[in-house]
Amino acid sequence: MERTAEAILTDGRRLPYVIKDDPPRGGMKYTYFAPDRSYVVQFFNDPKNAADPNLRKRIEAIIGKYNPTLSEEEGGARGGTKAAADYFAGKFCWPFAIVQSPEFGIVCPAYPSDFLFSDNASIYPQMSKDLKGKDKKSKWFTSEKLRQIMKERELGDFRSMLCISINLARAVRRMHSAGLAHSDLSCNNVLIDPISGGCVVIDIDSLVVPGIYPPEVIGTSGYIAPEVLTTLGLPFGDPKRNLPNARTDLHALAVLIYEYLLFRHPLSGPKIYSKDPDEDEYLSKGEKALFIENPYDRSNRPPDLAITISDLGRSLESLFLRAFVDGLHCPDERPTAMEWEKALVGAFDLLHPCENPNCAAGWFILHDPAKPVCPFCGTKVRPENIVRFHLKSRMRGSPGQWKEAGVINVYHNMPLFKWHIYSDVFPDEKADRSMAAYVCRVNGEFLLVNRSVHSMRSPGGNIVPPGQAIRLKDGAVFLMSDEETGCLCEVSCGR
Ligand SMILES: [Zn+2]
Repeated sequence: MERTAEAILTDGRRLPYVIKDDPPRGGMKYTYFAPDRSYVVQFFNDPKNAADPNLRKRIEAIIGKYNPTLSEEEGGARGGTKAAADYFAGKFCWPFAIVQSPEFGIVCPAYPSDFLFSDNASIYPQMSKDLKGKDKKSKWFTSEKLRQIMKERELGDFRSMLCISINLARAVRRMHSAGLAHSDLSCNNVLIDPISGGCVVIDIDSLVVPGIYPPEVIGTSGYIAPEVLTTLGLPFGDPKRNLPNARTDLHALAVLIYEYLLFRHPLSGPKIYSKDPDEDEYLSKGEKALFIENPYDRSNRPPDLAITISDLGRSLESLFLRAFVDGLHCPDERPTAMEWEKALVGAFDLLHPCENPNCAAGWFILHDPAKPVCPFCGTKVRPENIVRFHLKSRMRGSPGQWKEAGVINVYHNMPLFKWHIYSDVFPDEKADRSMAAYVCRVNGEFLLVNRSVHSMRSPGGNIVPPGQAIRLKDGAVFLMSDEETGCLCEVSCGR
């Protein structure tokens, strides 16, 4: 039986919701939907939780002064502009109000439809029926087994999984820069849409907030940091017990990125630590955890690793080694979310479309032009298809001196943005996402077409106005823009 009830919020507003028998229930809360399904009202399973003054204080802080989806002007996180708040509103399912009657609860936006399965998601009709309307939890797309039962169009490609990784690193970076920690980042609490490359972080109410007693979150198997898992047996208040914090989030973040890019868990290898499966899981993810690609100890390495972190380029490889070798048991050594964001963005600029139309990955990171081979299917890139921009930026205080500012691998129909043109623009939440220029191939010749860049210069030094193009020849050097922060671009072809 369905009936509509009314939630009275702490600010006096009243919001209707539909009461259903047997509402969807998570570990902490159960959920009712708005009549138009645009928001959800959630109550706590355990009345003790709802009565806990610490939980109330935490949720008030999350909805108010730590809220990155609300600008500072509107009472949200410090320094947050309206544009940045709107950007992050799409990256988190952030609670926006507290319910005081009929009992303590929270109101959250509903998940955008991109993150819910539509019709025919699986190759099995029954499975499709079961999945319809369910959340696209990361786990559906990160295990080879589950991927095999999904329709190909649901799976996206390597580029969209890289895009998801960037979005997640950016969301975690934002949370951490505010001093918050998620405490339970996992394949269940990050919904992803491999079709669009989007992700949304959910279950925000168990965040760790500075100065407020932390939530009693255990975490999700496979994503709990080793130091937390090892001390799980100690009582919650024991000072020796390691509780979730920003550094444990960084373990979970690295695990998720590894899974998105390589479809396997970084610690699940052939090594067996105990005959008891529970004990084995506890040791292999905790005290004895060993990266399957550890270069010094290969005892947990699967025999059939076709694609490895070295196929992702040097920056990502070194971050994975820091996360899972140096930092696996030393939390302070783990790369920050900002470091992940930067390295992933750098890798995105080296993407190359695979020339094999049947390649499931579709894209790969062309990090070494001397070995231009798609690691997913083994197809070689023809030299005439390799064009790279070596960017340089002006050294401050040394007129005429330039320093390296990154490499971009370009291809037919590739858009370029302000962060490719100017050295002081980074593709974060503040960046202008309108196309500045694009590369295309006409009659076998690569061109850079200016769309909106002010004072782009040809190799001969002439202004290239919007609508005009530069021929991309090996060795050509030109100014992306002759403004102070405009990059110098050196072109290399076939090498
Ligand atoms: Zn390929």
